[in-house]
Amino acid sequence: PFDLKEIVTETVNIVTPMIREKQLDLRLSLDDAIPVPVFGDAYRLKQVLTNIIGNAVKFTPEGSIEIEVKVTGQQYNDIQFQFKVKDTGIGIPVEKREHLFEAFYQLENFMTRKPQGTGLGLAISKKLVELMQGDIWIEESGDPGTTFMFTASFKTSNMEEFNRYDLQQKKNKTDQLRIL
Ligand code: ATP
Ligand code: MG
Repeated sequence: PFDLKEIVTETVNIVTPMIREKQLDLRLSLDDAIPVPVFGDAYRLKQVLTNIIGNAVKFTPEGSIEIEVKVTGQQYNDIQFQFKVKDTGIGIPVEKREHLFEAFYQLENFMTRKPQGTGLGLAISKKLVELMQGDIWIEESGDPGTTFMFTASFKTSNMEEFNRYDLQQKKNKTDQLRIL
């Protein structure tokens, strides 16, 4: 079990020095409907967030980074989240987006001319997002910069824990009956 809001703020804290150095404006918006805790792999989520937010900061010389997390639906024990990371950076030309999620793909541009990273972040992020029953894509916002969106699904309760509790309750009942 983990606190999703905490994971998001922890990830933001990692890039805070870089944000300060570039004097970027950071806007963080977390849906009040985010339940605490959720069940799932916090490490996976953190890895995706680290890369997407890290990219936003890395490829944004000035302006702002906007991070938004929303609850978009719930079905029984599953809860769906949508993450948005919008920057005012150098942008990614539409014709270059096709191979973006492939391993080692990096764009040639003035900011990446010197080697920076390995070009694996988005490929790994896509795989991890799929493991969280989600999807990742670039949203066309009409504004300069890039907007990455991804979805992920977590559990609101742990079914294994619940079943164990349920079994114990039933056992207690039969024990009581035996005593009677
Ligand atoms: P790594 O994540 O492995 O450290 P990386 O950041 O270069 O390296 P990816 O995260 O896979 O690799 O991103 C691939 C490429 O997509 C980047 O090199 C960059 O050219 C482009 N890119 C990714 N995010 C952005 C963004 N927010 N704005 C502009 N370009 C981006
Ligand atoms: Mg990266």
